[in-house]
Amino acid sequence: MTIALDTNYYNQNFDEQLSQEELLFFKQELEKQKEKIQKNLDKKINELNNYDEAKDEADHATIAIDNLTSNTILKEQQKTLIKIQRSLNKIALGTYGICTLCEEKINIERLKIQMFSEYCVSCRNELDNRR
Ligand SMILES: [Zn+2]
Repeated sequence: MTIALDTNYYNQNFDEQLSQEELLFFKQELEKQKEKIQKNLDKKINELNNYDEAKDEADHATIAIDNLTSNTILKEQQKTLIKIQRSLNKIALGTYGICTLCEEKINIERLKIQMFSEYCVSCRNELDNRR
């Protein structure tokens, strides 16, 4: 009887977690995205470092505008990079796919669309409504 109960418990528990294959899929996808953003960031930072080489005033003006746009993009990408890293850490800790607020499992289809979601649909909606 004890054994049967234990089996039930484990089955149930296992069912609530993402499978190893699913976790591996997310891990690979996240790492791919991370690499892509990292490369892009390196490139942009290089470009920013080259701005000093501009020769006249006109160039400086154009570059200032470019710089501003680049900075916004850079900031967005850095934010995304942090989210990706956080998700990768969660995978390592075994807490990936679990809502940060209510600790409920996040729908896998939702995760596929937004791999670094930290909240389940209902918590996300609640957060959006508060804004
Ligand atoms: Zn939640």
